[in-house]
Amino acid sequence: MATPTLPTELLIDGAFVAGEGEAEPVLNPATGELLVALPEASVEQVHKAVSAAHRAFDSWSETTPMERSRLLLRLADAVEARAEEFARLESLNCGKPFARALGDEIPAVADCLRYFAGATRCMSGTLAGEYLSGHTSMIRRDAIGVVGSIAPWNYPLMMAVWKAAPALAAGNTVVLKPSEQTPLSSLLLARVAAEILPKGVFNVIAGRGASVGQPLVEHPKVAMVSLTGDVATGRKVLQAASGTRKRTHLELGGKAPVIVFDDADLAAVVEGLRTFGYYNAGQDCTAACRIYAGAKIHDKLVADLSSAVRSIRMGLQDEPDVEIGPLISERQRNRVASFVERAQMAGHMEITAGGKLRAGAGFFFEPTVIAGARQEDEIVRREVFGPVVSVTRFSDTEQAIAWANDSDYGLASSVWTQDVGRAMRVAKKLQYGCTWINTHFMLVNEMPHGGLKSSGYGKDMSMYALEDYTVARHVMLKH
Ligand code: NAD
Repeated sequence: MATPTLPTELLIDGAFVAGEGEAEPVLNPATGELLVALPEASVEQVHKAVSAAHRAFDSWSETTPMERSRLLLRLADAVEARAEEFARLESLNCGKPFARALGDEIPAVADCLRYFAGATRCMSGTLAGEYLSGHTSMIRRDAIGVVGSIAPWNYPLMMAVWKAAPALAAGNTVVLKPSEQTPLSSLLLARVAAEILPKGVFNVIAGRGASVGQPLVEHPKVAMVSLTGDVATGRKVLQAASGTRKRTHLELGGKAPVIVFDDADLAAVVEGLRTFGYYNAGQDCTAACRIYAGAKIHDKLVADLSSAVRSIRMGLQDEPDVEIGPLISERQRNRVASFVERAQMAGHMEITAGGKLRAGAGFFFEPTVIAGARQEDEIVRREVFGPVVSVTRFSDTEQAIAWANDSDYGLASSVWTQDVGRAMRVAKKLQYGCTWINTHFMLVNEMPHGGLKSSGYGKDMSMYALEDYTVARHVMLKH
């Protein structure tokens, strides 16, 4: 694929500057080739970015929702106008099929910006009134201050915008740190945003978690930190934020249960799992990866799913009809391979599709189905973050619900049945931020996304995100 111009400069206080820290290798995971050695931000640059955001907060938080809305709408248009360039960078840096980045992710990014541009003008709340005689009370929702946003590598631009859009729309200023593995699309976003937003309102610094993320989280002028990442990273961020008692917003991992009842439409289930279990090579916190199948549907489901999964086209970004790409890194590929190896070694599970890493360049791992998994198995309990789906047979509804909820995670889940009453009863019982019925993975900006338990707290997208990025305040006037 043609290599686009790679943005490498950080955006600090409206100026583009080279990082002054160590150079980090940024790779094309489909070939393993080095795209660029990108110098990360020094600690001093992190502090400069935070100071710039802190200065900009005074005037940005005084703008009206209409003014912020206008700028965010312009930003959405500008992203869309350069959609191909964004999609190229994202696809190159993550190994994603170019058509998917262009067709799925960039439109979702533009829509997220537009949603929050509108939503910030429509916030509502408790009525002002005399709740104590002779006193008028009213509720305000005000911006919090500087938000440090830390994004992961699976959907780099989309995650950056899920965090930055509600924060900016609400009147906060932002210092964004993309993943050190996938900084390119966020650095292009910086280029585009610098032409639209006032200086200091949106800053982008690149670099690793320990050397750049940590000083950002610890900075006393950062009022809130939002992270999408691993559970272990969430813990570190909480610890680092505790020193200055910041607000935190954590979107951590997932291990989505998929309960398939005997009366489910098998063809729809198989098509759904083929898509939602393997999209983005399974590097998705909501991936449909932990299937519980009713006793009667189980065998046919395993057989049909395995043959469907064997037909998934894995390949380079621009190969015709390619459906999934590689994993993000050799480390991640080896991690996925070791999960599958341990499942194989356990003896009672069967790999009915895939199971191997692909020889040659790039970090590819075959789309895999593991049948015969038991509730206590590692493959059922731990997040793999790769194209691996396990299937477990259940005997009755109560067992399926209990197993689905028997997890450290609580992000996403789905129920497949033609019995509407049963679907609603099971959905009520599932301890997950989201439950889909007869589908999985579908997201809309109007609805919240976020977890329970180790999957974190705080919502991305929707009015709930605007609430998270503002603080409710009471103003009372004595007559
Ligand atoms: P990661 O936790 O390794 O990294 C995420 C970000 O945190 C990166 O920018 C990284 O540099 C930064 N970071 C790491 N250590 C840090 C520290 N000590 N201080 C500050 N920042 C630090 O996660 P990843 O590997 O990039 O992404 C995969 C993980 O993200 C998976 O566990 C996945 O489930 C999760 N995820 C969750 C959601 C969700 O919405 N819940 C969405 C996407 C991904």
